[in-house]
Formats: sequence, C-alpha cells, structure tokens
Amino acid sequence: MRIDILTLFPDMCRAVFSESILGRAVEKGAITVNAVNIRDYTLDKHNRVDDSPYGGGMGMLMQAQPIFDCYRAIEAEAETRPFVVYLSPQGEVLTQKKAKTLSEKAHLVLLCGHYEGVDERVLEEIVDEEISIGDYVLTGGELPALVLTDCIARMLPGVLPNEEAYSEESHFSGLLEYPQYTKPAVWNDREVPEVLLSGHHANIDKWRREQSILRTARRRPDLLEKAELTEKEREWLRQTLEKCGHGADGADK
Ligand code: SAM
Repeated sequence: MRIDILTLFPDMCRAVFSESILGRAVEKGAITVNAVNIRDYTLDKHNRVDDSPYGGGMGMLMQAQPIFDCYRAIEAEAETRPFVVYLSPQGEVLTQKKAKTLSEKAHLVLLCGHYEGVDERVLEEIVDEEISIGDYVLTGGELPALVLTDCIARMLPGVLPNEEAYSEESHFSGLLEYPQYTKPAVWNDREVPEVLLSGHHANIDKWRREQSILRTARRRPDLLEKAELTEKEREWLRQTLEKCGHGADGADK
C-alpha cells in the first residue's frame, strides 16, 4: 500500500513514520509513506499558499492551486487513481471499521489542511471522503493524517506478528479489550486473576470474552448496543450487572 500525505509540514510527518512499528513497516516495504510539500507547487513568486477568505472573517485559507497541482503530480505518476481523503473536523468520525476499509485501498492521498482550512473548490475537485479524528478542532491535519496512517498500517499484512495482534483489540469486534496482566503474578499485593495462571485455554477464552463484555457495558454502553452478543451472553450480562452493580471498572474476580 502507498500513502501520500499532502502537507505544509512534511518534516513533522516524516518524524513519525520513521520511528517504531510504523518505521519498521516502512523499512520492510509493507507500506510506502511519502510526505509531499504542497508549498513546492505554488506558482506564487513569494511562495505563498494561503490568502484571506472572500466575504471577510478571521484567518487565512489554503488556496486551491498549489493543492490541486500537488495532487495532479502524484496522480500523473500513479498506476490507478488514488483515493483522496481530506482530514477535517467536518468529516465522518474515524472508527476501526472505517480504517479497515481504507486499508484495502492500494493508494491513499491524505490532504492536511491548515490555518482556517481549504478553499472549498479544490475539495470538490479532488476529495473522495472527509475524515475527522474526533469532535474537536486541531491546528492542522498532520496529526489526524498520522493517526489514520498508523491505524491503517498496523492492519496491513506483515506489520504486526499476526492478525490476532489487532483483531482481538478494542473496537475490532465492537467490544473493548479485556484487562491484561504481565509478570510478576503478585504486584503491590494485587494478584493476577487465577484463571489466567491455570493454563486452561477454554476457560481463559471464556473469562476474556466475559470481561470484554462487562468492560464495554460499564465504559461504553453505546458500543454494546451494536455489538454481536448471543442471547445467553446478554442474559449473563444482565444478571452479572444486577449482582455486582455498576461499580468501578476492573476485572470481575
Ligand atoms: N475552520 C475549520 C472548521 O471550522 O471546520 C477548521 C480548520 S482547522 C483549524 C485546520 C485544519 O486542521 C483543517 O483544515 C483540518 O485539515 C485539520 N483538522 C482540525 N481538526 C481536525 C479533526 N478533528 N480531524 C481531522 N482534521 C482536523
């Protein structure tokens, strides 16, 4: 997969995708990520890429021309037309499911806005989808583009050790992940739940599934409504919540 990030701050992006798991994925060739400087495409003699909004108002807007020419340069050398995402607080809020769908595209172009945003006409011309990383406003689209790139990259083949490494995590199945523990077995007088030390895989799987359901019910009841639970599990949950109340979260020992 290839991702081109169209930005005014390419170094900010490169610093992230040269490090850690994303850095190794790039090194191994599981993903190609480029940060392309929109400013390199301006026709303005002073290298400007922004101007004031028509109709007045605060701040500056990114102009259409440099963004369009930057995109066209990438499109011209691509085998097929890339799928273009504009990172925007007005877009559909990013979910694991959306990232999974985008991870199936061969080539993504991620457009990062800055200042007060981008001239609407270039968005109409090139953008396929607008994605937001949450209902708040940041100064630029670089962090959202990197969030999206990271989220997509870890689902690509060869990036994590196997599919289980992400498919069992929070949000993948519509539930939050169960609590996890590592050595030592007792720390600060707190013990690891006994079942996890038993070596009994069926019991461990059952405990983890129940903890996932319980944790989601307590922390994100909105997710639970849409999650795939059997009738038996819903009944178990109803009885368990009745028994222990809706107290503090944590493993139900
Ligand atoms: N004036 C715009 C509005 O009210 O919708 C906000 C512009 S924001 C200050 C500048 C840029 O940051 C946007 O063009 C977008 O690329 C990016 N951005 C800010 N918040 C974001 C979010 N929650 N998700 C994705 N991108 C965001």
